[in-house]
Formats: sequence, C-alpha cells, structure tokens
Amino acid sequence: AGDTAEVPLKVSGLEKHFGGITAVDGVEFEIDKGSMTGLIGPNGAGKSTTFNCITGTHKPDGGRVEFNGQDITGLEPYQVADRGLVRTFQIARELGEMTVLENMMVAPKHQRGEALWRSVLPYARNSVNQQEQEILERAWETLEFFDIDHLANEYAENLSGGQRKLLELARALLTDPQMLLLDEPFAGVNPSLEERLLEHIHELRDQGYTFLIVEHDMDLIMENCEKVIVMHQGRILTEGTPEDVRNNEDVIEAYLGG
Ligand code: ADP
Ligand code: MG
Repeated sequence: AGDTAEVPLKVSGLEKHFGGITAVDGVEFEIDKGSMTGLIGPNGAGKSTTFNCITGTHKPDGGRVEFNGQDITGLEPYQVADRGLVRTFQIARELGEMTVLENMMVAPKHQRGEALWRSVLPYARNSVNQQEQEILERAWETLEFFDIDHLANEYAENLSGGQRKLLELARALLTDPQMLLLDEPFAGVNPSLEERLLEHIHELRDQGYTFLIVEHDMDLIMENCEKVIVMHQGRILTEGTPEDVRNNEDVIEAYLGG
C-alpha cells in the first residue's frame, strides 16, 4: 500500500457512536505528506468527531488510525502528540488568565510545564536553567514568527479572536509536530487576521508540515487546499480537487439540505 512515509495519516473504517447517534460511520481517507487537505461538510456531519477520534480525545468504536505506518488507534492525546500528530486546542478559560508567553510555556509537550511557566515570572528568573532558557527562546521565536511577540505580556483572555487562533497555532508548533489538525481555525477571525493566519499556514506547509483543516466555510477551503474531503451524515461523501468537489451535485445538495 505504498510508502507509508508519503502517507503519514491513514484512517480506515472509523466509527463513533454516541448513544443512538452514529456520528462517524465508516470513514476512510489518506493524507499525503506535506499536503494541505480540507475536511468540509455541513454542521453535524461528523468532522469534529472524526478529528477527536484521530487525536485521541474520543475512543473510536471501530476502525483504525495509522500515523507514519504505526497503529495509533485509541491512544491517549499526549501519546498521539508525542508521535508528531497534533491538534490545536482552544485556549481554555484558566489559560486566559495567563499571559501569552506563559501560555507558550505550558504548551502540551512541556511535561514540566508548571516549573517552566514559573520561570517566566520575574521573581523566578534567577532559577531558569539552560534547558528552560532554550524553551523560552523557542517560545519567543515562535511568537515572533506569528507576529504576536508584542503581545507576550498580554493576558490571553484580552486577545482578539484572530490573535487567539495565532496563539493556539503557536502553542501547537512548540510540540514539534509533523502534522497539524486544525478544527475551524478561522472561526471568529476578522478578514485581515484570517489572511495572516492563512499566510502562516502556507509558509509552514512550504516548510514541510502536513495540514488537515476542518472548516465549515467551503470557499475558504477550496481556495487554499489542494485536496478536499467532504463529509455528510458521518460518511465521506466525496473527495478530490477543489474543482471536482465544487461541481459535485451531491456536495451542493448536502450543503443546501444542511
Ligand atoms: P461537525 O463537526 O461536522 O459539525 P460533530 O462531529 O460535532 O459534527 O457531530 C456529529 C454528530 O455527533 C452530531 O449529530 C452531534 O450532535 C453528535 N455529537 C458530537 N459529539 C457528541 C457528544 N459528545 N455526545 C453526543 N453526541 C455528539
Ligand atoms: Mg465541528
């Protein structure tokens, strides 16, 4: 079945039920290395549940998830992240009460996160060791890459929707991912920041990161992804190039029918 290194993510027969609801019903797809793929579909199609089953937030009831040729089905989120497959997480309320820089220091891979974020507080600066210093530098570089370094000391809860999305992506990058899963990264983002966010994503893709992006806005995905997968009622309706998908009668109907 081909070179696994060229197909980092492979999902087959994925199923997830919530009580009587079948949220994901035999989903199959492969994602090529270094690609940017969009996963679209009307509300309730099962996109987020599919993501959650891939990244370990939910345990699937059936099927298989492979990453770099390894079976990662049902692993815990941190185990999936350790293998290089990372999703962005919305900044939780308690993280809103921390500054942007502190948020970077508690990025998921930093097991000693608490010690690290203390190290950015002035009274603890003296105790910063070499390793912590390196992580701090990477945090700064990443904030600079996203042009949000000037917000380092701002509380996360004071950021705009778009700035938050940049911070979420910045945090995810600190975990050294190979592939990033973004669930509605443009929701609540104003048009100018959306443009910036897209530029950063394209730049990262050019650096070799692989992206799978869940998005309700079909046009945005069509304009930015080389491959589009369409879900409807828990299943894959179709997949292909944006042109293929745009002209597919079933897709038009699914969107109109809701
Ligand atoms: P999408 O992200 O495409 O909008 P979801 O994956 O969120 O769709 O939802 C798919 C279906 O599963 C919907 O019918 C939704 O109501 C249901 N669902 C999702 N999560 C849960 C849950 N935790 N408990 C019960 N039902 C859920
Ligand atoms: Mg969703």
